[in-house]
Amino acid sequence: SHAFENKNIAVFGLGKSGMATAERLTTGKAHVFVWDDNQGRRDLALSKGLVIKDLISDSWTATDALILSPGVPLTHPAPHPVVGMALKAGAKIVGDIEVFLKEKKAGKIIGVTGTNGKSTTSALIDHLLTSAGKSAALGGNIGTPVMDLPQLPEEGAYVLELSSYQLDLTPSWKADIAILLNITPDHLDRHGDMAGYAAVKCRIFQHQSETGIAIVDADDSICAAITSELKRHSKAKIVPISVNHPVEAGVYVIDGLLSDQSLDDQSWTLDISDIASLRGRHNWQNAAAAVAAASHLGLTPDEIENGLRTFGGLAHRMENVGSLDHVTFVNDSKATNAEAAEKALTSFNDIFWIAGGRQKAGGIEQLAPHFDRVREAFLIGEASESFANQLEGKVNYTICKDLEEATKAAALAAKKLSSGAIVLLSPAAASFDQFDSFEARGDAFRNFVTDLLVGDK
Ligand code: ADP
Repeated sequence: SHAFENKNIAVFGLGKSGMATAERLTTGKAHVFVWDDNQGRRDLALSKGLVIKDLISDSWTATDALILSPGVPLTHPAPHPVVGMALKAGAKIVGDIEVFLKEKKAGKIIGVTGTNGKSTTSALIDHLLTSAGKSAALGGNIGTPVMDLPQLPEEGAYVLELSSYQLDLTPSWKADIAILLNITPDHLDRHGDMAGYAAVKCRIFQHQSETGIAIVDADDSICAAITSELKRHSKAKIVPISVNHPVEAGVYVIDGLLSDQSLDDQSWTLDISDIASLRGRHNWQNAAAAVAAASHLGLTPDEIENGLRTFGGLAHRMENVGSLDHVTFVNDSKATNAEAAEKALTSFNDIFWIAGGRQKAGGIEQLAPHFDRVREAFLIGEASESFANQLEGKVNYTICKDLEEATKAAALAAKKLSSGAIVLLSPAAASFDQFDSFEARGDAFRNFVTDLLVGDK
């Protein structure tokens, strides 16, 4: 039986996940009506046999639930009008993960959240499990919408990446293994302040039972405060992770040496400093979290080591997209804020840095301590003037017309260095002023680099 059978369900926002949810609920015999402000998405919905209804103009009688796309504001800066209408009509407001959990028949739930590293960690856990021959499926914020994931057997594991938006919309969230990677200021636009943001991230641990595992970062003060809260209120087993210091009964990485002490009967170490796809301390944090999860899912140290070594890494996150003589091109388009770009800047030297796009609060101010690693900067997009001001007198820079020009100019400058130069796209800004997404920006960069490499042969 379906939790939503015969219910009247409104779906607002027809992106990949909204569309999948509407289709699956329709097959599950709910009365589904859908809306998206974009005519093209509505046409697509219509062609799939979905019922279109203008949720802003029409009446809301007898609506049981509103399924909201994660991009539609629930609270901050102001709730979308559709949210007020749903509340007034007494409808529940949820996201697709709530629907998924309600309909799920079998399988464990592994949830990953945090400011940065969610996708990498989720993908790494999925890879550790599948490479060890276990049944797993990866979805949520990354890749496949949850409603399109396959049915797994009881011992299978759904690895779900959750943004704070999605946690907001998942009241029944309950994870077998919940992971909080880190909390640094980003997305404050939606949650107003740090305390509110921390409160939402903390919800990854809600409703956990005695058999639940709570994997928590031990290196930032907000996560440390959340850990103290968990010790008082949660039944789950707490597993701390650190890339700073040894943590008792946890997993930590120091100078590239990973130490897993998280199980009483399986304590082991592994040097991960030579694994290219896990380069940088931030990736050690992701590895620590993934190893903690894998150990608790019954993987042996050998299976985990094999998985770590065969993990390819993700596109757009410090992705090596080619090299020419001594110049290496790195696509870190996913670095849409200064915190993320800091990871790339501190992972390399002699950087020819391509940055800019739609600016976030603070710009690149916090990156100043690492400017000595940057040989030259190539600025693009709306942020270029303001980034230029922040670099003034510290780093030589050129303001470029677009990413293509910046890539060519950076490559040319890098070639003049006699050894080991890095052309790094790590924008520290959103992509939306020039591209549809960070993926489109990274793909464009990869193509420009490929053209350069071919042109040079
Ligand atoms: P998310 O899914 O949370 O956005 P990703 O795994 O896609 O995270 O990584 C996004 C960016 O953040 C990457 O460019 C990477 O350099 C940086 N990053 C990855 N893991 C971490 C981490 N644990 N802490 C801080 N920054 C990280």
